[in-house]
Formats: sequence, C-alpha cells, structure tokens
Amino acid sequence: MAWKEEGPAIGIDLGTTYSCVAVWKNDRVEIITNDQGNRTTPSCVAYTENELFIGDPAKNQILMNPCNTVYDAKRLIGRRFEDESVQRDMQLWPFKVVASDDGKPMILINNKGEEKQLAPEFVSSMVLSKMRQVAEDYHGTTVKNAVITVPAYFNNSQRQATKVAGEIAGLNVMKIINEPTAAAIAYGLDKKDSSFGERNILIFDLGGGTFDVSLLTIDNDTFKVKAIAGDTHLGGGDFDNNMVNHFVKEFKRKYKQDISGNPRALQRLRTACERAKRTLSFTTETTIQLDFFFNGIDFYSNISRAKFEELNMDLFRKCLEPIETCLNDAEMNKKSVHDVVLVGGSTRIPKVQQLLQDFFNGKTLCKDINADEAVAYGAAIQALLLSGQGNKKVKDLILLDVIPLSLGIEVKGSDMSVIIPRNTAIPTKKEKIFTTDDDYQTAIDFKVYEGERPRTRDNNLLGSFYFSGIPPAPRLVSKVKLCFDIDANGILNVSAEDKTTGRIENITITNEKGRLSKAELVRMIEEVEKYKVEDEEYKKKADARRALENFVYGIRNRVKYEKNFSSQLDSTDMKKMEEAVGLTIEWLDDTEELLEADIYQYKMEELKRIYNPIIGNMSKPRKFTQEAMSFYSLIRNFVESISF
Ligand code: ADP
Ligand code: MG
Repeated sequence: MAWKEEGPAIGIDLGTTYSCVAVWKNDRVEIITNDQGNRTTPSCVAYTENELFIGDPAKNQILMNPCNTVYDAKRLIGRRFEDESVQRDMQLWPFKVVASDDGKPMILINNKGEEKQLAPEFVSSMVLSKMRQVAEDYHGTTVKNAVITVPAYFNNSQRQATKVAGEIAGLNVMKIINEPTAAAIAYGLDKKDSSFGERNILIFDLGGGTFDVSLLTIDNDTFKVKAIAGDTHLGGGDFDNNMVNHFVKEFKRKYKQDISGNPRALQRLRTACERAKRTLSFTTETTIQLDFFFNGIDFYSNISRAKFEELNMDLFRKCLEPIETCLNDAEMNKKSVHDVVLVGGSTRIPKVQQLLQDFFNGKTLCKDINADEAVAYGAAIQALLLSGQGNKKVKDLILLDVIPLSLGIEVKGSDMSVIIPRNTAIPTKKEKIFTTDDDYQTAIDFKVYEGERPRTRDNNLLGSFYFSGIPPAPRLVSKVKLCFDIDANGILNVSAEDKTTGRIENITITNEKGRLSKAELVRMIEEVEKYKVEDEEYKKKADARRALENFVYGIRNRVKYEKNFSSQLDSTDMKKMEEAVGLTIEWLDDTEELLEADIYQYKMEELKRIYNPIIGNMSKPRKFTQEAMSFYSLIRNFVESISF
C-alpha cells in the first residue's frame, strides 16, 4: 500500500486546460466544486500587480493581462526547450518561454516589475495547490494524500515532473495513474451492477492538449490494460489554433493588417475561437464578433461547422492512428472491442464522433460517463483504495497498468537494446546481462533511453550513468547485470550488479538534463508557501477595505435614500453623519493602494464612534413609532453583523 498521511485521500485530474478534483464520501464519489461553484477549474495561473490568481480568476482576466497569464504548462512539463513541440507551441502563446541553463523550458513572466522564470512543474504545482485548497475547503481539514493522473502516453520525465509538481504543492502523491485507466475505472464501476461480464473497452480521451487511447479488459473487479497509445500533443487547443490561423489570414486579406505579433489581439481571437468551436458542436454555423479588435477595426466574421472540420480534418484523422496501434499491440481486432468510451471535452465534436463510429463499423459510442469528470472520478476511487479504506463496492478492484514506451540501453553502434518493451504490465522488473567490449575495461557508460526507434538518436535519453570499479579482465569476461525496475507509478529505477564481485549500485539517473535539483525543489516549495501567506495577507487587507466600504456606503445610502431613517435624525446629527461619511469616502477614493487591515479597522471604529451614539439616541422609545423601532433594530443588527 502507498504511504499515507492523516486525512482524506483525493483524486486529481491535472488537465492541460481544466483540472478536476474528486473524493469518495458517503459511499460515492463526489466531484468537488471550487469556490466559483464550478466542477472543473482552468489549469491557469496569472500574475497581476497585486495578486497571484489560480483557476477561474486567472482565466477571467486573461484578455487584460495575456503575457502574465500562463496556461498549457502540461505541454511543457518534463520536456526540453528544443523539443519540436515546445518550439511550435511557443509561437502561439502570448507568454514567453526561454531556455534555462540546462535546457529546460522556463516560462517568463513579469511580477511587480521584475522578470521571473517559472518552471512548468512550478506552474502545475500552483494548479495542484488550488485543487488541494478546493478539497480542503470542502472537507474543512488539511488534505495531503492524492492520486494524480497523467496521460497514458506521458514518458518517464513527464511523470517524474508531475510527481514533483505534486510534492511542491505539499501533496503526498500516493500514485500517478494513467488518465484513461482512471476513466475506465469510472466506466467499469458505473456498469458494475449490471451484468457486465468480461469486456474489452477502448477509452478514447481527447482533451485540450493531449490524446490518449487505452484498450482494457474489465473482468468484474480486474482492470487490465492491454495497450496504450496516443499523442502528447493533440487536442482542443490545436483545433483552436487552426481556427485562429484561419482568422488571422482572413483579417490580413480583408484589412491588409497582420495581428500575429500582437498578444492581446491573438488572445482575444483565441478565446472567441474556442467559444465558436464549442458552439459548432451543437450548431452548423456561428459568428465571431470582436469590437475594436485591431487598430480600431471591428472584426465580425462567420464560420461554419464544415469549414471548421476542413481546417482540422488532418488532426481528426490523426486520432484514428493510435487506435490502430493499440489494437495491433493488444493483438485484437476492432470487432472484439465491446465498448468505445468517450472521455475529454473534445469528444463532443461531431466529426470526431463520426470518424470514430465509422472506424468501428457504425458501433454506438458510449457517452454515459461524464467526459469532463470521469478521470478525476476514477482517481478518487484509486485514492480510496490506496488509503486502505476500501468500500464493499470497490474494495476488490485490481488495476493492472502498462508502460507507454519501451525502455532500454544504448549498445555499440548507437543501437537501442530494449530491456522492457512497451505495454508491459507494471510494476515490473527485468534484468539483462552486459559484458565489456574491450580487454581490461574497468567501467561501462550506460545510457538509458525510452522510445520505439532502433537507433537511440531517435529516442529520448532519460539519463546515463557510469558504472566503474569492474576488475580488469579480457573482453566479454566481465559481466554486469542491469536491472530495470518500474514502480506502480510507471517510474523507472535502475540498478547494476557486477557479477564478479557481487557489488550492486542503485543508480539514480542524475544527468538527465532538465530535472529539478533538490535546491530548486526546496526553493519552489518555499515559494508556494510564500504565495499562500501573501495571498492570505492580501485577502485580509482587501476584506477590511471591503468591510469599511460596505459600512460607509450603507450609512450613506440610508441617510440619503431612506426617508424613514433620515427623518428621525435631528439636523446636528445629520450634519455630523454626512461629514463623517463624506470624509471616509473621500479617503477611500484617495487611497487606491491597499493598506494594512488595521488602518481600515481604525477608520471603521472612528465612524462607529459617531454613528453608534446617534443610532443609540434613536432608540429612545418616546421619540419613535413602532415602525421606526423595527427599522432601528434592523440597523442595529446590521451594525452588529459587521465583524472586525
Ligand atoms: P484536458 O483534460 O486536456 O484539460 P478536457 O477534457 O477538459 O481537457 O477538455 C478541454 C477541451 O475540450 C478544450 O479544448 C475545450 O475547448 C474542449 N471542449 C469542451 N467542450 C467542447 C465542445 N462542446 N465542443 C468542442 N470542444 C469542446
Ligand atoms: Mg483530461
């Protein structure tokens, strides 16, 4: 069982565009709504003059602050700056990305006049800490334990980086599981009460940034992943981009002006395109309306569903390739797939559904689990099981997952020698013996790769290590046993054993560029904590200012508009009150910058010192009617309800 801290265990779907958190409570999975009342939270972070926004408030201010609003961090996590996909994405983001000294992509933002570089793990950690906060508000306790999901096709570095993001957010990451596997759990559990039997399920998960296909066999409580495939860079964001490019060209054609260098215009266009895309899932034609779009030009245009489909047809067709791969790897044909289950927001696109249905010879697609919530739902069940609190409905559930990419070592001539083939069930442990190539060779330089290509240069280098201290011997005599051990998170640990001396070394793959150092990690954890404190302080100040505003405008409105109230005041009191209220409002208008909370509280005290005795005088019974008395008690309650 995974190590567990006190308290509840949650499931988090850390999506490219939206994240979702769920927990098992009262014998069922609850999707937890955030403070805005939404069941999913944008995976978006924004730095403004005063505040750090995460989730809905960050997304809502994106048009005003496009260069300091960061999204899509999941497209960067665990990748290298020079990766083709990073280079391509950078062209379209309004925020800047630069390379760190060790080749990692870093997001560049401006925070209070200072440039700041954010690691993708750090941005994801902020989203995760928001999800943690959502869960904590719901539970009213600290929440530490979490299962986090990743696309099945995420490689070793991307998984590692996601785990690190969870740690920075102060979570105890009990397990990293694959998104489609989590969705399959949700689907399987949903069907459990009906006569389900053994079924082959294909999970088709097309989200905002990634595409995952998973083929599983569900037999009662056993979920066995047969094969996975996908594309870490295919999803709704790409469809939006194609529409954005279409309108950039149209604008150029119509108005002879190029908006592509203007982040704000691009962001406005992207937001409008995303909305239009969603609409086109339900209608056949829609409009884009952007007032004062560029150099004073209002930009109005139409787009039909057919045009949208034409713009994205290549990408839609690309969605079928991983299905073929998956079926081949699992040695299954499409007829043996019992259910095709749709997950992810982009599966609402009619053309995607149609292509998929045609591929499966007209089969009805399963849309009965919630496409936006299924992944978090499954993660919450996994979290429940790992926390050892299994419920009778889910306690026997067994999850057998696989690795997405083959893992191996570079051998002579830069060839890839596979140690664990892709789609091997995890956890797993595989060993292979390597010998020395030269006489009296005392060390071997092992390079660990992942990928399917025969030449290592086409695969992904995870890291290398130098195994020395081998007793000198003629070539091919010394033997080193390499052991690849993959844990339940899909994360690789490597050890090497000198067969002559029996010496074993556990190897941490150290020189994988782009991984965070311990010091960086500690710094980021501290920073997240610091933001929490800063946010709390900001909230305290803002709340105090708001309380004073409410109080003073409350009095002003009564004096000004409520006849019942003002008619009870004698002229001296009225003057005193108007003067005090006027001065406070003036002071508030003059001090736009937020001040310490106690300054507002002091101002409130001052006002009350004037206000309360006047209200007190109003309470003299002989002076007032019954009606005035009840009004007085209303005011009194109002004053008392304002807390300090
Ligand atoms: P992720 O898991 O990658 O964050 P989601 O599964 O939450 O993604 O899906 C988000 C994507 O789905 C976004 O690109 C969004 O524009 C798209 N989407 C949501 N609803 C619709 C719809 N009705 N039609 C087309 N696309 C949609
Ligand atoms: Mg998703």
